[in-house]
Amino acid sequence: MRILQHGARDLGICLTPEHLAAFQIYYEELVIWNERFNLTAVTEYEAVQSKHFLDSLTCLLALPGRPANSNIPDTVPLSSRMERPWRCMDVGTGAGFPGLPAKILRPNLHLTLLEATGKKTVFLNHLVGKLGLEGVEIIHGRAEEWGQRRGYRESYDLVVARAVAELSVLVEYCLPFCCQGGCFIAQKSAAGLEAELAAAQEAIEVLGGCVREVKSLDFPGLVPGRCLVAIDKITPTPEKYPRRPGIPTKRPLL
Ligand code: SAH
Repeated sequence: MRILQHGARDLGICLTPEHLAAFQIYYEELVIWNERFNLTAVTEYEAVQSKHFLDSLTCLLALPGRPANSNIPDTVPLSSRMERPWRCMDVGTGAGFPGLPAKILRPNLHLTLLEATGKKTVFLNHLVGKLGLEGVEIIHGRAEEWGQRRGYRESYDLVVARAVAELSVLVEYCLPFCCQGGCFIAQKSAAGLEAELAAAQEAIEVLGGCVREVKSLDFPGLVPGRCLVAIDKITPTPEKYPRRPGIPTKRPLL
């Protein structure tokens, strides 16, 4: 786990031997289960550390309350900055990215992993048990449905997503889960991001969001061109959003 350890250090994150042991178990389970479940195309030891684990941890660099464009590390544990543990939702988490690496680092997060593909949630249940993580809820379902449910809608301090959909679609999946004052962090690549942001601008406003920061990540251990889009939730999402499953992709809010 040297690539992860050194990469995290460059991000300002100090990983303990316990963290690294958890990531090693994560890696081993991912590779074993991938043979049957086809969870990810990235399975090589170095690549998993950089493209999955380290990349996932970057979402912690754009939390609300951090100065814009700051590369100052998130060294203050979340618990001491918060009156209560944050509720965090990872939409379209796949094999757990970025939510689970963030949870390994910040065990006091209350994490919900939402994933539409059943076999991926079977893996996630196994992995969370194996890692002995508490405070993780795993849901097999679609964002369009769960975003309308009481207890989930307007209920999360932090929503994260990586590699799920174009931003105009993604905000309809994710912003309904954010409470007012909460925020959504999308992990994106820089290629085409400007056009994606322009196309999503109207949708973001309609759904109650406001772009706080677009942060380019330039760290040695990361794949070049990674970006974070941080969107604050400033007003509640109108009731009719998210629309029925499949509609956001078929007719994005432009
Ligand atoms: N976030 C992970 C997985 C990306 S692949 C990563 O970065 O590695 C996209 C995942 O989103 C797939 O597993 C897919 O099943 C899930 N997904 C796509 N649309 C969804 C929706 N509307 N609701 C819930 N999950 C969804």
